Amino acid sequence: MSYYIGIDLGGTNLRAAIADTETGQIFHQHQCATLAAEGQAPVIGRIVELIHELRQASGMDGTLKGVGIGVPGTPDIDSGVIQFLPNLPGKWLNVPLQAILEDQVKLPVALINDVRAITLGEWKFGAGRGAGTLACLAIGTGIGGGVVVNGQFHLGLGGTAGEFGHHVVEVDGLPCGCGGKGCLEMYASGPAIAAMGVKEVMHGHTTRIGELVDHDLNRIDAGTIVQAALEGDPIAKSILQKAGMYLGIAVGNILGVISPQKVIFGGGVSRAGDLLLRPIIQTVHERVHVIPLQKVEFALAELGINGGLVGAALWAKRRCEGREVISEL
Ligand SMILES: [Zn+2]
Repeated sequence: MSYYIGIDLGGTNLRAAIADTETGQIFHQHQCATLAAEGQAPVIGRIVELIHELRQASGMDGTLKGVGIGVPGTPDIDSGVIQFLPNLPGKWLNVPLQAILEDQVKLPVALINDVRAITLGEWKFGAGRGAGTLACLAIGTGIGGGVVVNGQFHLGLGGTAGEFGHHVVEVDGLPCGCGGKGCLEMYASGPAIAAMGVKEVMHGHTTRIGELVDHDLNRIDAGTIVQAALEGDPIAKSILQKAGMYLGIAVGNILGVISPQKVIFGGGVSRAGDLLLRPIIQTVHERVHVIPLQKVEFALAELGINGGLVGAALWAKRRCEGREVISEL
């Protein structure tokens, strides 16, 4: 038995569950709205509250060994300090989240990037099972990633390996929130896909995208484009084709670095399934000629939101096992 709490700190929702890190089974999932605009202190309060709820509701408190938290940014995995969270409002500058939570919940806590957590979950219990080398990309508000190389979860300096959203896909391209330009995220993330849809509707093109939101441009998001494409709308499909082309360029670059057996795609936009995978694979085949592509498997993530929860729990097991909590500050 090896039970840990896994938490996903998302821009919209805060989710928590108990995971059996031996089997990947999830118990007692609880969630609440993140309400990130209220700032960091109320959000931290809600994380503490969720942990208390889980411990009480599960009756498993004595068996819980630690807490892993996937956050939408790049926490320093060694110090447990969040430098900043680009996709979460409220000033998260140099927040020692690990120490704050350990003081309040008296359990060991470990932080990790949210998509690195998904990578770990999918590798152990999802689409990545059995792969010695893999890359995982999650396409949502941003584009995150994670890598496993030769059977090792590869994290790089401070846990920053796998930032695929900031691979350059257009030299001298659009400026990105990271400070660079031409980053993948500017061309294939949820907001980038939504912006392409808004442009089409603004230009007066007849498309299911506009119909789905009663021509209210503010309501168009990536889900609208995916829905319209799944219903067969040619403009929505061409938007996904374009996003898939950019993703394919980035995936081609990843293949050239780690030559993985599997590339896994998760996140909300991956709900488009083959409509996104096909242009990615097509682009890879057009551009990559030095890797045996017939041996590379391209697959959708299997675990959905549970991937991040079980991955965060697996991360907690790695970092917290055998570690006693926790000084009384
Ligand atoms: Zn960038």
